[in-house]
Amino acid sequence: MIKVRCPICERIMEGERLEWPQFPFCSPRCKQIDLGRWLGEGYRFPTQRDSAPDTDDGTDVADARKLP
Ligand SMILES: [Zn+2]
Repeated sequence: MIKVRCPICERIMEGERLEWPQFPFCSPRCKQIDLGRWLGEGYRFPTQRDSAPDTDDGTDVADARKLP
């Protein structure tokens, strides 16, 4: 049994933890909001660009090569 407040909307989550699959958030929406806050604060993924060559930049290069 838990009784925790959602850090986003401050809704009280009461009951078994299994009832709250998005714990510690009350809903997928609040989870997304929290993620958005991280991104909004300048959180970056420096390794994502290195490990993912198929980015928009790569696509642009491929398209440019097709042009005469
Ligand atoms: Zn919430």
